[in-house]
Amino acid sequence: MKLIRFGAIGSEKPGVQLENGDRLDVSNFGQDYDEQFFGGDGITRLKDWLNENVDSCPKVDNSIRLGAPLCRPSKIICIGLNYAKHAQEAGMEIPKEPVLFFKATSAMVGPNDNVIIPKGSTKTDWEVELAIVIGKKASYVSESEAMDHVAGYVLHNDYSEREYQIERSGQWVKGKSCDTFAPIGPFIATPDEIEDPHNLDLWLKVNGETLQNSNTSDFVFDIPTSISYISQFMTLLPGDVISTGTPFGVGLGFDPPRYLKPGDVVELGIDGLGSSQQVAKAYG
Ligand code: ZN
Repeated sequence: MKLIRFGAIGSEKPGVQLENGDRLDVSNFGQDYDEQFFGGDGITRLKDWLNENVDSCPKVDNSIRLGAPLCRPSKIICIGLNYAKHAQEAGMEIPKEPVLFFKATSAMVGPNDNVIIPKGSTKTDWEVELAIVIGKKASYVSESEAMDHVAGYVLHNDYSEREYQIERSGQWVKGKSCDTFAPIGPFIATPDEIEDPHNLDLWLKVNGETLQNSNTSDFVFDIPTSISYISQFMTLLPGDVISTGTPFGVGLGFDPPRYLKPGDVVELGIDGLGSSQQVAKAYG
């Protein structure tokens, strides 16, 4: 199943995307895609409900805006430097343990919304990533249990302001949390839709030029390792998002570095998870 949310910013409704690309409004199911939904076995209940009610669900026109395909989660946890070649281009060592950082959940937007270059920013950069949505509370889970805690997979662009992240001392969170820095979607694919999350091509283009092109088989830390590892430090709640890191080809890695200017068009995608597009706009 593919979960979507659609409608104007702040008043999105839950929907599903069918195999043929049609989108259906499932508001009558009575629950949005939030912590209660994921934690209460909502995916199974929605599937059962759809079997009975699919014919009475209104169609959603493809011209209607998509929002992020889940309600604002308790946290977005990101893994840094999780592809060896990207660690190299960033001038950093391949980590011995996963590098974790947070992204403010207020950064979340729809997959095709504009990315706003923050006030005064000159180093806004892109990062195509596979993100995981947690389906079941996870605290001190083992690697062998970890995949039972996955509700689905989704495309994420982990936008990053490199000056705020690297030059303004301390914590990566400053460069990761600006408004619009987390376009998520178009849809969450449930695990049955993705044969092998450790073998997915992912790519990103700026103004039509391919800059990132890799495969999740290059992860330094795979998905069960990452989930288990994070759960040793914090409880993962249903609906939480884990972004698994970006491959080679970010703007920071070029000589000279390349960063976004107003009007630039960023497109990205992952096998089985669709694609998204953001146009860069100046703040204000
Ligand atoms: Zn990232």
